[in-house]
Amino acid sequence: MSILSKPYFHNEEAACEFVESNVWPNGPVCPRCKGSDRITKMQGKSTRIGTYKCRACRKPFTVKIGTIFESSHVKMHLWMQAIFLISSSKKGFSLNQLHRTLGVTLKTAWFMSHRIREAMKSDDANFGSGGGFVEADETYMVKTKGHGSGPHYSKKRKVLSLIDRDTKQAKSMVMTKVTIEELKPVLESNIAC
Ligand SMILES: [Zn+2]
Repeated sequence: MSILSKPYFHNEEAACEFVESNVWPNGPVCPRCKGSDRITKMQGKSTRIGTYKCRACRKPFTVKIGTIFESSHVKMHLWMQAIFLISSSKKGFSLNQLHRTLGVTLKTAWFMSHRIREAMKSDDANFGSGGGFVEADETYMVKTKGHGSGPHYSKKRKVLSLIDRDTKQAKSMVMTKVTIEELKPVLESNIAC
């Protein structure tokens, strides 16, 4: 099945449920009191999809609070489409493309793109943010003959992996060379100092 057929790209309720299952793996949590045991889902025709009420705070909330979707009226399934388009295009996805593809205004496209890029950036830089050790490891994906500086060395794919020992978060990236000059900027932009 094509990934683009996933319901969360087309159906607002499915999109909200998808985000909820990621943000709240153990069920809804009140963004104010952090409580999770006195929450009811609000039903009814005039209620916006994905609205919950905390009976401790007596206030309604949605999964958007505290995320990149906060205070935005853009439909969640359009957010899912935008995240997919931006994160899957290596060469970047222009504002004009986003505006035309999603059928939103240029201003909205700018807003969405800005929020998504911010989120991707902060996700990059938080290795070791808990104060723990970060392991950096180079591996070679394609085995060819020859060693370190041998004749076949440059044909291998050099992959740098970062692993945060506390959060178990891991990320791998292909490097053109594994030299100090190449590694230093990558490490600096990915590890919280
Ligand atoms: Zn509450």
